[in-house]
Amino acid sequence: MKTEEETYSEVQKIFKKLGKEEGISNSEGKIIRLNGRWVMFDTSYLPFGALKELDELLGPVSRTILYRMGERCGRVIYDRYANLGFDRDSCLKFIAAAAWYFGWGLVDFEIKEDHAKVRIYNSFEAESNIINNGINPENSCHFIKGVMAGVWGRYSGGDWFVTEPKCKARGDEYCEFILKPDLKSKT
Ligand SMILES: [Zn+2]
Repeated sequence: MKTEEETYSEVQKIFKKLGKEEGISNSEGKIIRLNGRWVMFDTSYLPFGALKELDELLGPVSRTILYRMGERCGRVIYDRYANLGFDRDSCLKFIAAAAWYFGWGLVDFEIKEDHAKVRIYNSFEAESNIINNGINPENSCHFIKGVMAGVWGRYSGGDWFVTEPKCKARGDEYCEFILKPDLKSKT
């Protein structure tokens, strides 16, 4: 077997045969950004593939599972910026900028008195749905809805309910999300 260094050198040589693709991992095989380790997944299998497998095993609860995974992710994302000492509104701006940085899509948002509206151009989840399922009225960005619920829960406190009246994977130009306080969960 090869050492770590020999393995690195070997994969470098092999990958060069694919063309001019720049590696994004370091010599340890890790992608390090913003003080954390990241991995990349191809949208041809995630998150649509996770939804599909969960759906076959468990039924419609699969959407709730994906949503809940997103919610956890949203809390972690918000805390990353909050822990750096940014104020609440700056955290939201950094999250939107990071969505661009990590290829999730282009995020715009506006905050009203009783709700918030978020628009995502080229949502990775919508495109994962389109690659696998075409434009379909059943499609929705369940994971991203959860991410927003998690982010807004940290931003405003309490629980938030997120709907997606427009989705690129249902034929709309972009995905649009409405966030409202989840009054049911407070009773
Ligand atoms: Zn969508």
